[in-house]
Amino acid sequence: MNILTNADLHCHSDVSDGTLSPEALAARAKANGVELWALTDHDELGGQRRAMAAAAAHGLPYLTGTEISVTFAGTTVHIVGLGVDPDHATLQAGLRATRGGRENRAREMATQLAAVGIPGAFEGALQYVGNPDLISRTHFARFLVEARVCASTQEVFRHYLTEGKPGFVPHRWAALGDAVSWITGAGGLAVIAHPARYRLTPTEEYALFSEFREHGGTGVEVVTGSHTAAEYVKYAEMAQEFGLYASRGSDFHSPEESHTDLGGLPDLPGALRPVWEALSHRVIRPH
Ligand code: AMP
Ligand code: MN
Ligand code: MN
Ligand code: MN
Repeated sequence: MNILTNADLHCHSDVSDGTLSPEALAARAKANGVELWALTDHDELGGQRRAMAAAAAHGLPYLTGTEISVTFAGTTVHIVGLGVDPDHATLQAGLRATRGGRENRAREMATQLAAVGIPGAFEGALQYVGNPDLISRTHFARFLVEARVCASTQEVFRHYLTEGKPGFVPHRWAALGDAVSWITGAGGLAVIAHPARYRLTPTEEYALFSEFREHGGTGVEVVTGSHTAAEYVKYAEMAQEFGLYASRGSDFHSPEESHTDLGGLPDLPGALRPVWEALSHRVIRPH
């Protein structure tokens, strides 16, 4: 495996806020030419065994994964863990604690939406939830589209559910150092997910990269469905400046909602060290 490997190391199943099962994702990854795949459900490892089995059935090399919600500088930041032991007790306990509080948050989100004339959002969102522990803003967004409040989930996030808009409930997720240590303690490699997505000042962004590295984080997503071509260049430079491995992942959630499909990203820019070269000992290869 080299820098040109069609690796897709970030996507979601219906065990978190995706719409497809782990099995359907494995089939889709294979059909789209993915050569190394990881399922990275939010704050959850419940789909890993199924993803591993389905990948093996398709002859598709697999890395375990999860995407941990973290609060940093008052903002939500996502840290992907790749190659983790899905049975590791400390990682599992950390994820369980991170998942806690989602239901209360969702009830408060629904109260806010009711106050602006949108009743029934908690029950409405629940219809889309495969895993009740993981009720998320994405499920509310699907309900708001179904209720014809907005035309698309993208439009929902422009008018609702984000800071300063109805339905936004601030939440305290895991600490950065805890998330990184859960991942590395479980034998995995920690990766800053889609760094261009965060509303951080340049100083805060520098602090994120510095502190992440001090805690033992060693990777950053450069090519992701959430980045523009200019952002590939910016974060390729950041990867080199901070000596981080580069990752690549579509962040695919749903055929209807995601504009980047599994395996549909450009290659990593040359001169970067791909994260999968540091993880070759953790790749689960089909027999
Ligand atoms: P939560 O973990 O409940 O805060 O939900 C976060 C999820 O909402 C992310 O993982 C995305 O799937 C989705 N999301 C957040 N912001 C946006 C956006 N601007 N456009 C589309 N999806 C978004
Ligand atoms: Mn998501
Ligand atoms: Mn994310
Ligand atoms: Mn994601």
